Amino acid sequence: MSVEAWHAPGEPVGYDEAIAQRFEPFLVGTAWGRPWSTTWFRCTGDVPAAWIGDRIEAVVDFGFSSRGAGFQAEGLVWTADGPLQGIHPRRTAVHLPEARPGTQTIVIEAAANPNLGVGFRPTPLGALDTAGERPLYTFRAADLARRDDEVFHLLLDIEVLFELMRALALTDPRRARLLRTIEDAFDSIDVDHVRATASDARKLLRPALDLPARASSMRVIGVGHAHIDSAWLWPIRETVRKCARTFASAVRVMDEHPDYRFVCSQAAQYDWMERHYPALFERIRAKVAGGQFVPVGGMWVEADMNLPSGESLIRQMVHGQRYFESRFGLRCREVWIPDVFGYPASLPQIFAAGGCTRFVTQKLSWNKQNRFPHNTFEWEGLDGTRVLTHFPPVDTYNAEVASGEMVFSEHNFQDHGWSDWALMPYGYGNGGGGPTLEMVERAHRMADLDGLPRLALGTTDEFFERVEGEIAAGAPVPVWRGELYFEMHRGTLTSQIETKVGNRRCERLLREAELWWATGGEPPAEVLAQLDELWREVLLQQFHDIIPGSSIAWVHADAEDAHRRVAAALETSIELAIARAVPAGMSVVANAATHARREVVASIEPPAGSTHVQRLSTGETAAMVAAPGGGFGPLAALDVDDQVVVTERSMANGQLCVQWDLDGTITSIIDVRRGRELLPVGQTIRFELAPDHPVEYDAWDVESWTPALGREVGGVETVAVTEAGPLVAALTVTRRFGASTMATTCTLRAESARLDIAIDVDWQEDEQLLSLRVPLDVRTEHATCDIQFGTVRRPTHPSSPWDAAKFEVCAHRFVDLSEPSFGVAVLNDGRFGHGLFDGGVRVSLLRAAKFPDPNADHGRHRVTIAILPHGPGLDDVLAAAESLNVPLRVHTSPASSPGAASERLPGPLVTVDHPGVQVSAIKRADDGSGDLIVRLYEAAGNRVPVTIRPAKLPDGAWRCNALEERLDAVEVADEIVALVLRPFELVTLRVTPER
Ligand SMILES: [Zn+2]
Repeated sequence: MSVEAWHAPGEPVGYDEAIAQRFEPFLVGTAWGRPWSTTWFRCTGDVPAAWIGDRIEAVVDFGFSSRGAGFQAEGLVWTADGPLQGIHPRRTAVHLPEARPGTQTIVIEAAANPNLGVGFRPTPLGALDTAGERPLYTFRAADLARRDDEVFHLLLDIEVLFELMRALALTDPRRARLLRTIEDAFDSIDVDHVRATASDARKLLRPALDLPARASSMRVIGVGHAHIDSAWLWPIRETVRKCARTFASAVRVMDEHPDYRFVCSQAAQYDWMERHYPALFERIRAKVAGGQFVPVGGMWVEADMNLPSGESLIRQMVHGQRYFESRFGLRCREVWIPDVFGYPASLPQIFAAGGCTRFVTQKLSWNKQNRFPHNTFEWEGLDGTRVLTHFPPVDTYNAEVASGEMVFSEHNFQDHGWSDWALMPYGYGNGGGGPTLEMVERAHRMADLDGLPRLALGTTDEFFERVEGEIAAGAPVPVWRGELYFEMHRGTLTSQIETKVGNRRCERLLREAELWWATGGEPPAEVLAQLDELWREVLLQQFHDIIPGSSIAWVHADAEDAHRRVAAALETSIELAIARAVPAGMSVVANAATHARREVVASIEPPAGSTHVQRLSTGETAAMVAAPGGGFGPLAALDVDDQVVVTERSMANGQLCVQWDLDGTITSIIDVRRGRELLPVGQTIRFELAPDHPVEYDAWDVESWTPALGREVGGVETVAVTEAGPLVAALTVTRRFGASTMATTCTLRAESARLDIAIDVDWQEDEQLLSLRVPLDVRTEHATCDIQFGTVRRPTHPSSPWDAAKFEVCAHRFVDLSEPSFGVAVLNDGRFGHGLFDGGVRVSLLRAAKFPDPNADHGRHRVTIAILPHGPGLDDVLAAAESLNVPLRVHTSPASSPGAASERLPGPLVTVDHPGVQVSAIKRADDGSGDLIVRLYEAAGNRVPVTIRPAKLPDGAWRCNALEERLDAVEVADEIVALVLRPFELVTLRVTPER
């Protein structure tokens, strides 16, 4: 074909705009494509009349390397009716069913995406401003061709039998016979006349292909799939185009093979198609209606499961299921997250709340230390909820339908004792691509073939129905209780920490915005629409390569921009919501936490004439204030019972006495009321730096030996008492180490047992792990870690291989080490990676990996780690964790506030009376009914009665699922909703106010 090209000058443009440009002649064999650029190629050739009747294809080579689909140049073939199909290294042919004799033209939007998946070495190609201008590819070929069907099928016959032969044991008679059969077939081919002799060769292979599978062979259901990382080694804008290429190809394969099924997750990706490729979206919709294009997963994206809050994971399901229901009239029944780095113990009930009783993942086959003992099992979560779970024994979500994969599936499957069925997700993936015609053709040959499990093309639904049938008939399905800890990629708890911190900030602000808008009466529809929009933006950034910190620089810059944008919009929204609720001219303290608070806040201007205030060294003022949980208190400086007293090297109130040495190192923390020293004799709280060189996956992994290499960070430059009480006392230490500087401020406040260590660091190190090591004189076998909707216990010792593998674990707001009557919690407002040891906690603060972002984590970071001694139970810890993470908000309404709805300060919408119960969300119902939705959970593992007192008389109350559909009525008596929560139970409550 002859080729013309138009090189788009900047970011991608649409088909109509591109096609209107002036295309220049382009010489096949020349270079094209500066990194991340787009070139539109128009290829024209003549179809000879003699070809009509054969299958005519255009075959294109952008300069592909042998590496697979989705990691290099890719193309989308366009027609005036929209996208036709994708082009990648394993899908270079474009079938032209309408070809007539004479001129034939195809138009391709080609993306010069750099291949960053090779070697995982530091590269400047991951950001536009460092990627350079040098073209990446040489356009090798654009040809018209006709396919010889007999040769095409001969090749597939040989692939299937040859791979089967190689996969069988040397002692297997079938292997020897196959070798002879294939030799005979090859001998029958005249290499100078392949076309003429292909049929003879196929006839010789036929008996080997017709031999049926053994009666006892297992059953595999092959589901077409394309794993498309919503961002990773490419930015989101490129993923939108990857989806168009992949989905257009999937639809085309469906046209050719009616038995082919393609399962596709991530509602966000469908949403992109709907908005950017409406014609393709309509074709997808038709194929969904026909049962070939199958939405799975029920989530907005395939999110990371360690780092987002419980509420975020609920919203992943709500936004996903709502989308699938509104566009396709269906809900997913399974969660589909094959490539996610660990699964907390609260997931089963989150999935169940979102309408999913089934779960597919594959990642635990990557475990480095221990092999997980099942492929199909019931996974039991924290509260006792179970989901039927399957790890496809092919150990990949990118199978290629090779005979060897099928043999491996059967050998690898660990549940033959009770189940006959396994799933095999096939199709090129990570960067998309999906199944090819060849894969479907091979699958047909494997349906019933001696030496292989029997393979049927189908859906995840069909797979789970089979297994559920086995269980219903009495098969002894095994049960695994507790988290599915992933023994790899522990570095993703810390890498690109600002992306994680930004997510956490947005989660907090979303919760506050929903609460305060619900408080001031029915929110305007446009506010609810905006909150939905902002939620989806945050949910997108929770994708399993974005929030874990494993993407290129471009992706993390985009994520941090998105978080800044969302946070700014929410701050504005929250101000408006509070202004609407608070009467004119009033100054209030807004407390979005679950329970009432009384604490010192800084940076406020108390009303004139206030006593009991402290002027801070920053020029700000601090005062003791109070507010009810989820409500407003008047801003007033309160009497202080327990002031802080500072001496030269100590600060103390009635609860805590803290001492330091000349270097500002904390040498003693005494719990005054309980008479306990927190630090072991001779040990101090210290920062540590450790060389951090993962063996394989730079941004992903922290190795077991890395923390042990930690050396204390010295470099102290100044030590000063920066606040001297009586409300706030603070010690500030500055340091310089390597190319970095760090200021740490230890703060003790009046009436508080919490010691805060605020860290402000300009981090310029490379391949180092910075930790805060907090030794504690507490002896316990287990630490209690805060996770989504509950806590989980992890070992403080490496006694068994399963214990030893948990050397770096995820915790959200705190880790607690407790003896039966005394404990110490280490809290944080923005870290996740923790090391646990008998007698202490190590908090991973910062890393600096070199791949995929060579500049990862350089820059300024702020975080507060806090230490809190406490008595038995977690009540104090939960309250302190909320206080640290949900700061009190001070608001002054203008004297004439036009928006204010009432003359009286509204009380909290609901009051929760048990300290172990936490409120995850208070919002108006999504259906616009004006009902109140309260999502709460028991956080400590107790069985507790709880009463919820709504501000408005309730007309009725119901337990709901996450989609806010009524399940059971809850008794309402004396204006109170009374519940008993099971340990770690999550409840979504719908309260209808009396009208
Ligand atoms: Zn992935």
